[in-house]
Amino acid sequence: MKWAPVIGLEIHIHLKTKTKMFCRCELEYGAEENSRTCPVCLAHPGTLPVPNARAIEMTILLGHALQCEVVERSVFHRKHYFYPDLPKGYQISQYDQPLCVNGRFALADGSEVGITRAHLEEDAAKNVHMGGSGGRIAGADRTLVDYNRAGTPLVEIVTEPDLRSSEQAKRFLQLLRQTVVELGISDAEMEKGSLRFDVNVSIRPEGSDELRTRTELKNMNSFNFAAKGIEREIKRQIGIYESGGEVEQETLHFDPGNESAPPLRSKEEAQDYRYLPEPDLVPLVPGRELVERLRGELPELPGARIARLADELDTDLAEGLVTSGRDRLFEQVPGERRAVANVLMNQWAATGVDPAAVDADELGKLIEARDRIPRAAFTEALEATGEPGFEAERYLADGQIEATADLEPLVEHVLAANPSQVDDYRGGKEGLLGFFVGQVMKETGGRANPKLVNELLREKLKA
Ligand code: ADP
Ligand code: MG
Ligand code: ZN
Repeated sequence: MKWAPVIGLEIHIHLKTKTKMFCRCELEYGAEENSRTCPVCLAHPGTLPVPNARAIEMTILLGHALQCEVVERSVFHRKHYFYPDLPKGYQISQYDQPLCVNGRFALADGSEVGITRAHLEEDAAKNVHMGGSGGRIAGADRTLVDYNRAGTPLVEIVTEPDLRSSEQAKRFLQLLRQTVVELGISDAEMEKGSLRFDVNVSIRPEGSDELRTRTELKNMNSFNFAAKGIEREIKRQIGIYESGGEVEQETLHFDPGNESAPPLRSKEEAQDYRYLPEPDLVPLVPGRELVERLRGELPELPGARIARLADELDTDLAEGLVTSGRDRLFEQVPGERRAVANVLMNQWAATGVDPAAVDADELGKLIEARDRIPRAAFTEALEATGEPGFEAERYLADGQIEATADLEPLVEHVLAANPSQVDDYRGGKEGLLGFFVGQVMKETGGRANPKLVNELLREKLKA
């Protein structure tokens, strides 16, 4: 039998507000442990939460970007569980009346993913596992808690089970990440934990539209690991069904290190959380004027730009440019479209230069001349594109320097500038020849004929 995967995602993003969700503690990643706390986020008795208006605006903006309906009336609930990172013994979250519902998000391949909801909540504190465990709970001898993170505004986005492959899930996540970054509502950096996601996976016979039991992979910290985890989970479930078994609903912790996903816990049911409306907060009723003003603030979104660029490039290239944040530069760089796109996605991408630092016209000149410049010089020039005052001209002067008369003074200059290396070479360290060649190439922006440089150097170093 052929099996078809069914995938749904739950994505958490930290909002980039100045202060926490329900108190005025400053948010600062990397601040000294427990230095950004107050009686509210430490859950002292008698304290009361006051919602952060900016976090609500950011969530509405995101709701618009996800083509959600922003509800007329939304309610905060308490979600109870017991863990040292949750000082109140409950998390203020949203349950059956989330702020944003019924959205959709278009992918570059033309498919659409349903957005069930996007709701606002607060993050828990951070447990730090100490002692010989590499930060993991298994093998740790004690756990410390950093309450700086407690109360960080967090949006949870839940998708419909509309994704059909690990590759599609990865692309969805990349595009969503780029979208929230461009909206300016989150850094969405996985290393910092400001973007985290859970992946729900089930399979079904191809052609069927039933929904079978799913498992949930938690603690994903990279798009590639997520894709790997999904692949492995699909295989595991196929194995179970094909040997006559049943998949059990459970939560798995994906450990990219050992490629296994041991069960974490069996899934809590909603009743285990004893949800109840937060009595200390009034219902959230966003003004329609605010909602409409925020709709007007939406910039052109990555998805729309991919669609626009896909007309002149192929979809993959357009998607790559946009999700890597290079498409604005691409649009400014003059030259043959496909060549510019390819250089930006390959050789130039490898330099790590910040797109914002680049003079697009100069980069265009360089790309235009790429076939006339030696490879090494081209690479070196690309690396220099982020430097202030970068001029392609310096690397373009027509072709290689072939004349001995032109190279000789340069070679002499390099030898004069490096007397101790010259002595070492003459003392037997002949490996230094490469160093001298490199220096001459540098002086000439890589345009010197390397064979000739070698010959000249050997000759001059003999003496
Ligand atoms: P819960 O509230 O228990 O977390 P939901 O039903 O709201 O569960 O679904 C959570 C996530 O699981 C959503 O992203 C949804 O798309 C996904 N999901 C639900 N059913 C399936 C299924 N059969 N296969 C894969 N994903 C699923
Ligand atoms: Mg869930
Ligand atoms: Zn606080």
